[in-house]
Amino acid sequence: MTIIPLDRTRTANGASGGTPVLEARGLTKHFPVHRGARRAVVHAVEDVTLALPQAGITAVVGESGSGKSTLARLLAQLIKPTAGAVLLDGARAPGRQRYTRQVQLVLQDPFSSLNPVHNTRYHLARPLRLHGLASGANMDTQIAELLERVALSPSFAAKYPHELSGGQRQRVAIARALAMQPRVLLADEPVSMLDVSIRLGVLNLLAGLRDREGLAILYVTHDIASARYLADVIAVMYAGQIIESGPAAQVTDAPAHPYTQLLLSAAPDPDRAEPPSLRGRGAPPNLIRPPSGCRFHPRCPFAMTVCANERPVAIEVAPGQASACWLHAKGLTAAQSRPLREPGTLTGPVTEAQRPQGPGEEKR
Ligand code: SF4
Repeated sequence: MTIIPLDRTRTANGASGGTPVLEARGLTKHFPVHRGARRAVVHAVEDVTLALPQAGITAVVGESGSGKSTLARLLAQLIKPTAGAVLLDGARAPGRQRYTRQVQLVLQDPFSSLNPVHNTRYHLARPLRLHGLASGANMDTQIAELLERVALSPSFAAKYPHELSGGQRQRVAIARALAMQPRVLLADEPVSMLDVSIRLGVLNLLAGLRDREGLAILYVTHDIASARYLADVIAVMYAGQIIESGPAAQVTDAPAHPYTQLLLSAAPDPDRAEPPSLRGRGAPPNLIRPPSGCRFHPRCPFAMTVCANERPVAIEVAPGQASACWLHAKGLTAAQSRPLREPGTLTGPVTEAQRPQGPGEEKR
Protein backbone atom coordinates (compact mmCIF):
# COMPACT_ATOMS: atom_id res chain seq x y z
CA MET A 1 0.00 0.00 0.00
CA THR A 2 1.40 3.35 -1.03
CA ILE A 3 1.33 6.17 1.44
CA ILE A 4 0.52 9.46 -0.27
CA PRO A 5 0.93 12.54 1.87
CA LEU A 6 -1.84 15.05 1.12
CA ASP A 7 0.77 17.67 0.45
CA ARG A 8 1.83 19.72 -2.49
CA THR A 9 3.37 16.86 -4.42
CA ARG A 10 0.12 15.31 -5.55
CA THR A 11 -3.43 16.44 -6.13
CA ALA A 12 -6.03 15.16 -3.69
CA ASN A 13 -8.17 13.76 -6.50
CA GLY A 14 -5.31 11.73 -7.83
CA ALA A 15 -5.36 13.54 -11.16
CA SER A 16 -2.53 12.52 -13.39
CA GLY A 17 -1.47 12.96 -16.98
CA GLY A 18 -1.57 16.38 -18.63
CA THR A 19 -1.56 19.70 -16.87
CA PRO A 20 -4.89 20.38 -15.17
CA VAL A 21 -6.69 23.53 -16.24
CA LEU A 22 -7.10 24.78 -12.67
CA GLU A 23 -5.23 23.66 -9.57
CA ALA A 24 -5.34 24.42 -5.88
CA ARG A 25 -2.03 23.84 -4.14
CA GLY A 26 -2.05 23.73 -0.37
CA LEU A 27 -4.92 26.25 -0.21
CA THR A 28 -5.62 27.46 3.30
CA LYS A 29 -8.12 30.06 4.48
CA HIS A 30 -8.38 31.36 8.04
CA PHE A 31 -11.02 33.97 8.81
CA PRO A 32 -10.18 36.23 11.76
CA VAL A 33 -12.96 36.59 14.35
CA HIS A 34 -13.28 38.37 17.68
CA ARG A 35 -14.45 36.49 20.76
CA GLY A 36 -14.83 39.23 23.30
CA ALA A 37 -11.40 40.78 23.70
CA ARG A 38 -9.70 37.70 22.28
CA ARG A 39 -8.77 37.28 18.66
CA ALA A 40 -9.19 33.92 17.02
CA VAL A 41 -9.40 32.44 13.54
CA VAL A 42 -11.87 30.12 11.88
CA HIS A 43 -9.88 27.37 10.14
CA ALA A 44 -12.27 27.22 7.17
CA VAL A 45 -10.01 25.53 4.61
CA GLU A 46 -6.78 23.75 5.49
CA ASP A 47 -4.07 22.70 3.04
CA VAL A 48 -6.33 21.62 0.16
CA THR A 49 -4.67 20.39 -3.01
CA LEU A 50 -6.98 19.64 -5.92
CA ALA A 51 -6.86 19.61 -9.72
CA LEU A 52 -9.64 20.25 -12.24
CA PRO A 53 -8.87 18.53 -15.54
CA GLN A 54 -10.26 19.62 -18.89
CA ALA A 55 -13.55 17.89 -19.82
CA GLY A 56 -13.96 16.55 -16.29
CA ILE A 57 -16.30 17.13 -13.36
CA THR A 58 -14.83 17.06 -9.87
CA ALA A 59 -17.35 17.03 -7.03
CA VAL A 60 -16.49 18.42 -3.62
CA VAL A 61 -18.89 16.84 -1.13
CA GLY A 62 -19.46 17.61 2.54
CA GLU A 63 -21.88 18.79 5.20
CA SER A 64 -22.71 22.46 5.74
CA GLY A 65 -19.72 24.22 7.23
CA SER A 66 -17.17 21.79 5.80
CA GLY A 67 -15.47 24.59 3.84
CA LYS A 68 -16.52 23.52 0.35
CA SER A 69 -18.11 26.86 -0.61
CA THR A 70 -15.09 28.72 0.78
CA LEU A 71 -12.91 26.51 -1.42
CA ALA A 72 -15.03 27.45 -4.47
CA ARG A 73 -14.64 31.15 -3.62
CA LEU A 74 -10.89 30.74 -3.20
CA LEU A 75 -10.73 29.09 -6.63
CA ALA A 76 -12.84 31.92 -8.06
CA GLN A 77 -10.36 34.35 -6.43
CA LEU A 78 -13.21 36.19 -4.71
CA ILE A 79 -11.27 35.84 -1.47
CA LYS A 80 -7.54 35.67 -0.88
CA PRO A 81 -6.00 32.53 0.58
CA THR A 82 -4.10 32.65 3.85
CA ALA A 83 -1.61 30.26 2.30
CA GLY A 84 -1.23 28.20 -0.85
CA ALA A 85 -1.73 29.07 -4.48
CA VAL A 86 -4.16 28.80 -7.38
CA LEU A 87 -2.60 27.76 -10.70
CA LEU A 88 -4.17 28.18 -14.13
CA ASP A 89 -2.58 25.96 -16.78
CA GLY A 90 0.21 25.16 -14.33
CA ALA A 91 1.20 28.82 -13.85
CA ARG A 92 0.32 31.34 -11.17
CA ALA A 93 -3.14 32.77 -11.88
CA PRO A 94 -3.13 35.94 -14.03
CA GLY A 95 -4.73 39.28 -13.12
CA ARG A 96 -8.36 39.44 -12.12
CA GLN A 97 -9.88 40.38 -15.49
CA ARG A 98 -8.02 37.71 -17.46
CA TYR A 99 -8.73 35.18 -14.73
CA THR A 100 -12.49 35.75 -14.59
CA ARG A 101 -12.67 35.41 -18.38
CA GLN A 102 -11.52 31.82 -17.91
CA VAL A 103 -12.93 30.84 -14.52
CA GLN A 104 -16.58 31.55 -13.74
CA LEU A 105 -18.59 30.93 -10.57
CA VAL A 106 -22.26 29.86 -10.62
CA LEU A 107 -23.93 30.57 -7.29
CA GLN A 108 -26.38 28.47 -5.34
CA ASP A 109 -29.34 30.83 -5.26
CA PRO A 110 -30.81 31.63 -8.69
CA PHE A 111 -33.47 33.74 -6.97
CA SER A 112 -31.01 36.38 -5.76
CA SER A 113 -28.27 36.10 -8.37
CA LEU A 114 -30.42 37.79 -11.05
CA ASN A 115 -31.47 41.43 -10.75
CA PRO A 116 -35.31 41.45 -10.65
CA VAL A 117 -35.62 44.76 -12.54
CA HIS A 118 -33.72 43.53 -15.60
CA ASN A 119 -34.65 40.94 -18.20
CA THR A 120 -32.60 38.00 -19.39
CA ARG A 121 -31.23 39.95 -22.34
CA TYR A 122 -29.73 42.55 -19.99
CA HIS A 123 -28.10 39.86 -17.81
CA LEU A 124 -26.49 38.18 -20.81
CA ALA A 125 -25.61 41.34 -22.76
CA ARG A 126 -23.80 42.98 -19.86
CA PRO A 127 -20.78 40.64 -19.62
CA LEU A 128 -20.57 40.46 -23.44
CA ARG A 129 -20.46 44.25 -23.66
CA LEU A 130 -18.13 44.83 -20.69
CA HIS A 131 -15.57 42.40 -22.07
CA GLY A 132 -15.94 43.50 -25.68
CA LEU A 133 -17.20 40.10 -26.79
CA ALA A 134 -20.22 41.36 -28.76
CA SER A 135 -21.91 44.54 -29.90
CA GLY A 136 -24.62 45.80 -32.26
CA ALA A 137 -26.54 43.21 -34.28
CA ASN A 138 -24.07 40.54 -33.19
CA MET A 139 -25.34 40.91 -29.62
CA ASP A 140 -28.75 39.35 -30.27
CA THR A 141 -27.18 36.45 -32.16
CA GLN A 142 -24.80 35.76 -29.28
CA ILE A 143 -27.59 35.95 -26.72
CA ALA A 144 -29.70 33.50 -28.73
CA GLU A 145 -26.70 31.14 -28.93
CA LEU A 146 -26.11 31.37 -25.18
CA LEU A 147 -29.75 30.56 -24.46
CA GLU A 148 -29.56 27.62 -26.85
CA ARG A 149 -26.49 26.26 -25.02
CA VAL A 150 -28.55 26.07 -21.82
CA ALA A 151 -31.60 24.62 -23.60
CA LEU A 152 -33.74 27.77 -23.51
CA SER A 153 -35.43 29.28 -26.57
CA PRO A 154 -34.51 32.83 -27.76
CA SER A 155 -37.89 34.05 -26.49
CA PHE A 156 -36.50 33.85 -22.94
CA ALA A 157 -34.38 36.94 -23.67
CA ALA A 158 -37.38 39.17 -23.04
CA LYS A 159 -38.43 37.50 -19.78
CA TYR A 160 -37.82 38.94 -16.31
CA PRO A 161 -36.65 36.79 -13.38
CA HIS A 162 -40.14 36.64 -11.83
CA GLU A 163 -41.42 35.06 -15.05
CA LEU A 164 -38.90 32.19 -14.80
CA SER A 165 -38.98 28.98 -12.77
CA GLY A 166 -36.07 28.18 -10.46
CA GLY A 167 -34.56 25.83 -13.02
CA GLN A 168 -34.90 28.43 -15.80
CA ARG A 169 -33.26 31.07 -13.60
CA GLN A 170 -30.33 28.75 -12.90
CA ARG A 171 -29.99 28.12 -16.65
CA VAL A 172 -29.88 31.88 -17.25
CA ALA A 173 -27.22 32.19 -14.52
CA ILE A 174 -25.18 29.44 -16.23
CA ALA A 175 -25.66 31.16 -19.62
CA ARG A 176 -24.35 34.39 -18.08
CA ALA A 177 -21.26 32.53 -16.88
CA LEU A 178 -20.82 30.98 -20.34
CA ALA A 179 -20.96 34.44 -21.94
CA MET A 180 -17.34 34.94 -20.86
CA GLN A 181 -16.30 31.82 -22.82
CA PRO A 182 -14.73 30.28 -19.69
CA ARG A 183 -12.76 27.06 -19.54
CA VAL A 184 -13.68 26.39 -15.92
CA LEU A 185 -17.09 26.51 -14.22
CA LEU A 186 -17.24 26.52 -10.42
CA ALA A 187 -20.80 25.46 -9.58
CA ASP A 188 -21.54 26.05 -5.89
CA GLU A 189 -24.58 23.93 -4.91
CA PRO A 190 -26.23 24.78 -8.26
CA VAL A 191 -29.29 22.57 -7.73
CA SER A 192 -29.80 22.58 -3.97
CA MET A 193 -32.45 25.35 -4.10
CA LEU A 194 -34.34 23.79 -6.99
CA ASP A 195 -37.30 21.43 -6.90
CA VAL A 196 -36.21 17.82 -7.02
CA SER A 197 -38.09 17.36 -10.30
CA ILE A 198 -35.96 19.92 -12.16
CA ARG A 199 -32.56 19.19 -10.59
CA LEU A 200 -31.82 16.44 -13.05
CA GLY A 201 -32.20 18.79 -16.02
CA VAL A 202 -29.59 21.20 -14.63
CA LEU A 203 -27.20 18.34 -13.76
CA ASN A 204 -27.56 16.99 -17.30
CA LEU A 205 -26.86 20.48 -18.63
CA LEU A 206 -23.54 20.55 -16.70
CA ALA A 207 -22.69 17.06 -17.99
CA GLY A 208 -23.37 18.28 -21.54
CA LEU A 209 -21.04 21.27 -21.08
CA ARG A 210 -18.30 18.84 -20.01
CA ASP A 211 -18.91 16.41 -22.85
CA ARG A 212 -19.64 18.80 -25.74
CA GLU A 213 -17.51 21.80 -24.81
CA GLY A 214 -14.73 20.25 -22.73
CA LEU A 215 -15.28 22.48 -19.69
CA ALA A 216 -13.52 21.71 -16.43
CA ILE A 217 -16.25 21.80 -13.76
CA LEU A 218 -16.14 21.91 -9.97
CA TYR A 219 -19.45 20.67 -8.56
CA VAL A 220 -19.89 21.65 -4.91
CA THR A 221 -22.64 19.77 -3.12
CA HIS A 222 -23.79 18.24 0.16
CA ASP A 223 -25.56 15.49 -1.79
CA ILE A 224 -23.21 12.59 -2.42
CA ALA A 225 -25.84 10.80 -4.54
CA SER A 226 -25.95 13.63 -7.08
CA ALA A 227 -22.12 13.76 -7.02
CA ARG A 228 -22.00 10.11 -7.96
CA TYR A 229 -24.49 10.70 -10.80
CA LEU A 230 -22.65 13.69 -12.25
CA ALA A 231 -18.97 13.66 -11.33
CA ASP A 232 -15.95 11.76 -12.58
CA VAL A 233 -14.04 12.31 -9.35
CA ILE A 234 -15.31 12.93 -5.82
CA ALA A 235 -13.34 14.70 -3.10
CA VAL A 236 -14.96 14.46 0.34
CA MET A 237 -14.39 17.44 2.63
CA TYR A 238 -14.69 17.48 6.39
CA ALA A 239 -13.94 20.41 8.68
CA GLY A 240 -11.92 22.21 6.01
CA GLN A 241 -9.83 19.25 4.89
CA ILE A 242 -10.16 16.74 2.07
CA ILE A 243 -10.35 13.36 3.74
CA GLU A 244 -11.07 11.03 0.83
CA SER A 245 -10.93 11.28 -2.94
CA GLY A 246 -11.06 9.08 -5.98
CA PRO A 247 -13.18 7.99 -8.94
CA ALA A 248 -16.84 8.74 -8.15
CA ALA A 249 -18.08 5.17 -8.52
CA GLN A 250 -15.19 3.80 -6.47
CA VAL A 251 -15.64 6.26 -3.61
CA THR A 252 -19.39 5.67 -3.39
CA ASP A 253 -19.30 1.88 -3.92
CA ALA A 254 -16.38 1.25 -1.58
CA PRO A 255 -15.94 4.27 0.72
CA ALA A 256 -12.75 3.90 2.72
CA HIS A 257 -13.05 6.75 5.21
CA PRO A 258 -15.53 6.49 8.12
CA TYR A 259 -16.87 9.98 7.34
CA THR A 260 -17.62 9.06 3.72
CA GLN A 261 -19.39 5.97 5.05
CA LEU A 262 -21.42 8.22 7.34
CA LEU A 263 -22.35 10.54 4.45
CA LEU A 264 -23.43 7.59 2.32
CA SER A 265 -25.50 6.18 5.16
CA ALA A 266 -27.48 9.43 5.14
CA ALA A 267 -27.96 9.57 1.35
CA PRO A 268 -31.50 8.96 0.06
CA ASP A 269 -32.12 5.28 -0.65
CA PRO A 270 -35.51 4.05 -1.92
CA ASP A 271 -34.85 0.61 -0.39
CA ARG A 272 -34.35 1.96 3.14
CA ALA A 273 -37.34 2.06 5.48
CA GLU A 274 -35.96 4.81 7.75
CA PRO A 275 -35.58 8.37 6.47
CA PRO A 276 -31.91 9.35 5.98
CA SER A 277 -30.31 11.42 8.72
CA LEU A 278 -26.96 12.45 10.13
CA ARG A 279 -28.64 13.20 13.47
CA GLY A 280 -27.46 11.09 16.33
CA ARG A 281 -24.01 10.82 14.79
CA GLY A 282 -22.53 14.00 16.23
CA ALA A 283 -22.09 17.41 14.67
CA PRO A 284 -19.29 19.09 12.72
CA PRO A 285 -16.65 20.57 15.03
CA ASN A 286 -16.05 24.15 16.01
CA LEU A 287 -13.53 25.39 13.45
CA ILE A 288 -12.18 28.07 15.78
CA ARG A 289 -10.72 25.23 17.84
CA PRO A 290 -10.74 22.26 15.47
CA PRO A 291 -10.09 18.86 17.05
CA SER A 292 -6.46 17.82 17.18
CA GLY A 293 -5.17 14.97 15.05
CA CYS A 294 -7.96 13.67 12.81
CA ARG A 295 -10.69 16.29 12.89
CA PHE A 296 -13.32 13.55 12.66
CA HIS A 297 -12.16 11.73 15.79
CA PRO A 298 -14.86 13.11 18.15
CA ARG A 299 -17.52 11.50 15.88
CA CYS A 300 -15.66 8.44 14.71
CA PRO A 301 -16.73 5.06 16.10
CA PHE A 302 -13.30 3.63 15.21
CA ALA A 303 -11.16 6.38 16.77
CA MET A 304 -7.84 5.28 18.25
CA THR A 305 -5.37 7.06 20.47
CA VAL A 306 -3.25 8.10 17.50
CA CYS A 307 -6.29 9.74 15.89
CA ALA A 308 -6.58 12.33 18.66
CA ASN A 309 -2.91 13.29 18.44
CA GLU A 310 -1.66 13.06 14.87
CA ARG A 311 -3.18 14.21 11.58
CA PRO A 312 -3.57 11.13 9.37
CA VAL A 313 -1.72 10.96 6.08
CA ALA A 314 -3.61 10.04 2.91
CA ILE A 315 -3.14 6.44 1.95
CA GLU A 316 -3.90 4.96 -1.45
CA VAL A 317 -6.50 2.26 -0.79
CA ALA A 318 -7.35 1.47 -4.44
CA PRO A 319 -6.07 2.82 -7.77
CA GLY A 320 -6.74 6.56 -7.70
CA GLN A 321 -8.57 6.40 -4.36
CA ALA A 322 -6.94 7.88 -1.27
CA SER A 323 -8.22 8.09 2.29
CA ALA A 324 -6.72 10.15 5.11
CA CYS A 325 -7.41 7.72 7.95
CA TRP A 326 -5.15 5.88 10.40
CA LEU A 327 -7.21 2.71 9.90
CA HIS A 328 -5.33 2.15 6.63
CA ALA A 329 -1.87 2.67 8.10
CA LYS A 330 0.38 -0.24 8.88
CA GLY A 331 2.84 -0.47 11.72
CA LEU A 332 0.90 1.41 14.40
CA THR A 333 2.02 0.52 17.90
CA ALA A 334 -0.34 -1.06 20.43
CA ALA A 335 -0.51 2.25 22.29
CA GLN A 336 -1.34 4.17 19.10
CA SER A 337 -4.08 1.76 18.03
CA ARG A 338 -5.80 1.56 21.44
CA PRO A 339 -9.52 2.48 21.05
CA LEU A 340 -10.19 6.04 22.14
CA ARG A 341 -13.50 5.16 23.75
CA GLU A 342 -15.41 2.08 24.79
CA PRO A 343 -17.19 0.28 21.91
CA GLY A 344 -20.82 1.35 21.60
CA THR A 345 -20.39 4.57 23.57
CA LEU A 346 -20.73 6.78 20.47
CA THR A 347 -24.48 6.34 20.13
CA GLY A 348 -25.73 9.88 20.44
CA PRO A 349 -24.50 13.34 19.52
CA VAL A 350 -21.03 14.02 20.91
CA THR A 351 -21.30 16.87 23.35
CA GLU A 352 -18.53 19.33 24.04
CA ALA A 353 -18.05 17.71 27.45
CA GLN A 354 -17.59 14.29 25.84
CA ARG A 355 -15.23 15.60 23.20
CA PRO A 356 -11.70 14.32 23.79
CA GLN A 357 -9.38 17.24 24.37
CA GLY A 358 -6.29 17.53 22.26
CA PRO A 359 -2.93 18.84 23.40
CA GLY A 360 -3.13 22.50 24.26
CA GLU A 361 -6.94 22.56 24.30
CA GLU A 362 -8.76 23.83 27.35
CA LYS A 363 -12.07 22.45 28.52
CA ARG A 364 -14.77 25.09 28.13
FE1 SF4 B 1 -11.65 7.61 12.59
FE2 SF4 B 1 -9.07 7.68 13.29
FE3 SF4 B 1 -9.74 7.27 10.78
FE4 SF4 B 1 -10.09 9.67 11.88
S1 SF4 B 1 -8.12 8.64 11.51
S2 SF4 B 1 -11.53 8.60 10.58
S3 SF4 B 1 -10.69 9.10 13.94
S4 SF4 B 1 -10.17 5.93 12.50
